[in-house]
Amino acid sequence: MQVICLDLEGVLVPEIWIKFAEKTGIEALKATTRDIPDYDELMQQRLRILDEHNLDLAAIQEVIATLEPMPGAKEFLEGLREKYQVIILSDTFYEFSKPLMKQLAWPTIFCHRLEIDDNGRVANYVLRQKDPKRQSVKALKSLNYTVFAAGDSYNDTTMLEEADAGFLFRSPQNVIDEFPQYDVTTEYTELAGFFDKAALTFE
Ligand SMILES: [Mg+2]
Repeated sequence: MQVICLDLEGVLVPEIWIKFAEKTGIEALKATTRDIPDYDELMQQRLRILDEHNLDLAAIQEVIATLEPMPGAKEFLEGLREKYQVIILSDTFYEFSKPLMKQLAWPTIFCHRLEIDDNGRVANYVLRQKDPKRQSVKALKSLNYTVFAAGDSYNDTTMLEEADAGFLFRSPQNVIDEFPQYDVTTEYTELAGFFDKAALTFE
């Protein structure tokens, strides 16, 4: 029995914070886990900037509603789901992901949630658990699943390490250089081929 765990942003959809930064013109919001590997440090910076600019959840959701999955992502995901169980493991938040999950036909996603105060301001974020991607893969393995995983960035590397086979997809060069043990591709068809090959190995 095999499960595929996929990262969301940078793999199936664009980086939500980068798109938001483009629309608002706030350069500092373009930082992602590619730039700041420490996720809490990155999120605290984002919340601080949102406050400084009086930006609430509605403003963020307005931008997300205009985003679309990357070209070919929906078909790629549909193809995978015909053959495998697929779970998206993301460091985004349910409040952000919903409009994009709708466009992807509601795949299963494990991510985090936001705390919104009475004024609609993002007051805080709540991580589901520490090291969530690795823990999710571990849990699936404890259910007797073989797990294959793909992601683009630093926050995916513990998931790739824990998985029975892991791959990098459209990763920046610094991640590729730092984690040479993972095969890398920029094409959905090749990534699907990586999974099929792994599936044969672990049959
Ligand atoms: Mg990503």
